[in-house]
Amino acid sequence: MGSATSTRATGRYAGSRSQLERAKRSLAGGVSTAMRAAQLPVPLVIDHGYGSHLVDIDGNDYVDYVLGFGPMLLGHSPARVIAAVQDQLARGLTFGAQHRLEAEVAERIVETVPCAELVCFSTTGSEAVHAALRIARAATGRSKIVKFEGHYHGWIDPLHVSTPGTPPAPGTASPLAATPGSGGQSSTTEVIVLRWNDAGALEETLAADDDIAAVIMEPVASNGGLIAPVDGYLERARELTREHGALLIFDEVVTGFRLALGGAQSRYGVTPDLATYGKAIASGLPLSAVAGRRDVMEVIADGRVRHVGTYNGAPPAAAAASAALDVYREGSPALYEELERTSARLAEGLAEAAAAAGVPLKVHQVGPLLQTFILDGEQSVTSYADAATADTARFARFAEAMLERGVMILPRGWWFISTEHSEEDIEVTLDAARSAFAELAD
Ligand code: PLP
Repeated sequence: MGSATSTRATGRYAGSRSQLERAKRSLAGGVSTAMRAAQLPVPLVIDHGYGSHLVDIDGNDYVDYVLGFGPMLLGHSPARVIAAVQDQLARGLTFGAQHRLEAEVAERIVETVPCAELVCFSTTGSEAVHAALRIARAATGRSKIVKFEGHYHGWIDPLHVSTPGTPPAPGTASPLAATPGSGGQSSTTEVIVLRWNDAGALEETLAADDDIAAVIMEPVASNGGLIAPVDGYLERARELTREHGALLIFDEVVTGFRLALGGAQSRYGVTPDLATYGKAIASGLPLSAVAGRRDVMEVIADGRVRHVGTYNGAPPAAAAASAALDVYREGSPALYEELERTSARLAEGLAEAAAAAGVPLKVHQVGPLLQTFILDGEQSVTSYADAATADTARFARFAEAMLERGVMILPRGWWFISTEHSEEDIEVTLDAARSAFAELAD
């Protein structure tokens, strides 16, 4: 990027820069999650959001494709959700006792999610995954868990291995070494890591070990390259887990209520034993859930699993979830069809804009999720190892150039689309992309 651009950028983000310096004096690293630190030229400090837009403290207005890392499927000012939360705030914040909204939300999940017969709540996606593992171990009396390379299931120790960002395992041997995603993690001996979309490796592993409690996967590998399941893979994983007495867990923290009202499991027609939810479930407030087969979830009801948490099903978050799930349900299927159309238009337009500038861009789209990579060569990206060969530094420069043109995307090329993204937003985004790709090609 030329020096003129950099000079312009410096003044443009002056407020964010000075706020970050201030934060660094008391807040470790200056940001509250490492995911936000990657933004160039500086992690933005946001003043407010509206519709499909964010406004930073310097007054710069962006079409936003980060959507809070996913929760804001209804955009930044979902009127019904905000009204429901405000109504609840007037009644109280948290009680340490039951309230009506918990059952209301659980009923909505049971009505919309194929695998859901019983539900339990936690606060974050990571916690819901942790609860699902505990439920699976208690229900099967087994201890090991199979996960897949490049799939992300939150930051809690056992599954925070071979996550996006860790180097892909070399060679073809299976299982793979479990690579911790962070310093300070405990041992990972009870987790078996496999390559995803490889039914043979899953079959061999399940046949060789009768201590596997569960196989957990993102049903679309949304974090590690937005890679869709190959034809028949989810069905085969379903058969194999059933045959070998292990539970199948879909982590639907990203895909839930987003790829369809019933999430990835209804889009692909494969019903797991358990599924985890977070992000879009409560449209911006912290609520997460495990939903699953009654006989499995009974381990909570009968006390074999101690499921606890001060904020589980907290009233404002439950109010948000109740309203958001109503909006999704009443809007379906038109809401999801419209999301698909908007996202397809964006995906096509980005591919055209990159091709016109001679930038080797690959675009994956599944429902209202996009992943874009800058990657030389004709081959398609079908695995985490392929995705890891992308030129991430070049893409981060593209993201910076987009920011300067009023469009906010994640530097890792993962795009979230909301119901509020209009045709005009898409045209603004594609104009910005044409000019940013041209700059990148210089
Ligand atoms: N599972 C998946 C698929 C995710 O993408 C994430 C977060 O991005 C999580 C779990 C963890 O959710 P949280 O960040 O709310 O703990």
